[in-house]
Amino acid sequence: MNNADVIYRAHVVELRPTPNQVEFLEKCASHSRFVYNRTLSFFSGHPIWHKGVASFLLTKLRQDFSFLNETSCAMQQCAVADLDTAFQHFFRRVKSGAKNPGFPKFKKRFRAKKSFSYRDKRRFDFNERRLRIERLKTKIKTRQKPRFDGVAIECTIFERVGKWFASIVYKLDAPKFIPARQPSVGVDLGIKSFATLSTGEVFANIRPLQRQAKLLAKRQRQLAKKIAGSNRYVKLKKQIAELHYYVSMKRKVIINEITTYLVRNFNTIVIEDLAVRNMMKNRRLAKAIGDVGFGMFRTILTYKAEAAKRKLVVADRFFPSSKTCSNCGIIDDKLTLSHRQFNCNSCGISLDRDLNAAYNLNTLAQGSEESLNAHKSLSPCACVN
Ligand SMILES: [Zn+2]
Repeated sequence: MNNADVIYRAHVVELRPTPNQVEFLEKCASHSRFVYNRTLSFFSGHPIWHKGVASFLLTKLRQDFSFLNETSCAMQQCAVADLDTAFQHFFRRVKSGAKNPGFPKFKKRFRAKKSFSYRDKRRFDFNERRLRIERLKTKIKTRQKPRFDGVAIECTIFERVGKWFASIVYKLDAPKFIPARQPSVGVDLGIKSFATLSTGEVFANIRPLQRQAKLLAKRQRQLAKKIAGSNRYVKLKKQIAELHYYVSMKRKVIINEITTYLVRNFNTIVIEDLAVRNMMKNRRLAKAIGDVGFGMFRTILTYKAEAAKRKLVVADRFFPSSKTCSNCGIIDDKLTLSHRQFNCNSCGISLDRDLNAAYNLNTLAQGSEESLNAHKSLSPCACVN
């Protein structure tokens, strides 16, 4: 099969393990961390990382520490593979002359995320709300059924706020292209409303973090006064994690709703390159932007557009979408963020600032329509897929 006909999708399901199963999951996570740290400590004293040697070392570890035989060897090999990835990233950063190349770190017992993986489809099996993993005799109940009908090739199990999840990666046939009814849309992302479409539709912003921010700040302050590792510290830390989890879930629901709507209804979608990182430097904007999750929006939209064979156009970050008059094309340099209305001095048009920007973005789609299959960047925009 041609590579272009295959896509990879992950499905995250919540597990409902029994206490005995939780014990096993904890054990797997702990062994995975043990193998990772032991291998890392071996190579910390040696100048050269060698994956082959690391694999050999695992065999040795399993002989020396017999408890490692209680969990899957394939799972432990994944821990070695993860360390290999960490080293490859480190080498890449050294090569590119990064200031802090970041040598792989040890996974600390209380701080590291509990997780482990199986990257071989024979080691696990997921169907009908049951997950089987190697070396666990009973199947784990799951809250969800498999979302995809394809070959599951990878399974990562992790814990978050006291719950266990499995992220299962599928290899799927790329879906057939079904054209949408409307050719294109410009999407202006904002702080006041999350998204304004060139069709005039507006998706409100609920800004979940803002509502929770006060509580979160209070808890953070309380945490600072507690002794690290104490019972109260652990309890508070859990509360904070739960708060973050709640916020991120709520945000994800909204983003999924908007992105699904866009992909379902439009063939070409134009968004701005907000360069989230750069904007994060501006403190006042930073909180609101981090809050609404533009980065997450773009990531989710990108994969959904790819799956549905939609064209996603990302306008250059210097494209003056807000400052250009969508009616006559004149650029108003004096426009600042505080102007909520766009008033054109040249043609006299007056409209909502975000809607004006959305119109301008949509114009870029029309410009790129002629070379729909070119897959090349057009000035002033760059195509993502
Ligand atoms: Zn004008």
